[in-house]
Amino acid sequence: MGCDVNITKDDRAIIQGGLSRLGINIFPLTVLWVNAMWKWKETGYEIRPDNEVAAILDICQEPCAFYDDGGYCKRCGCSVNKSKFAVINKIRMISEHCPEGKW
Ligand code: SF4
Repeated sequence: MGCDVNITKDDRAIIQGGLSRLGINIFPLTVLWVNAMWKWKETGYEIRPDNEVAAILDICQEPCAFYDDGGYCKRCGCSVNKSKFAVINKIRMISEHCPEGKW
């Protein structure tokens, strides 16, 4: 059985950027990530379509004081981007929402 997830060059950059940003905060961010994965699993791994992801990213970049140009939310520490690879993109997971209630 093969894996049908293609990690693009952009995805790799996001992962590398995320790892460098984790630093000493790796434990709390990992806990948040595991919790997000658990909630997402309960939805049957449902994802948002590209148009919804783009609209939400516009909200993050509007600008929001918590948005980091590297594609992160400084409020929750999650990656927010257009990646189709939901495990590195909070916006893609249908179970995730803005901690400030913006989406
Ligand atoms: S998820 Fe919410 S708080 Fe974080 S950057 Fe986006 S709009 Fe701002």
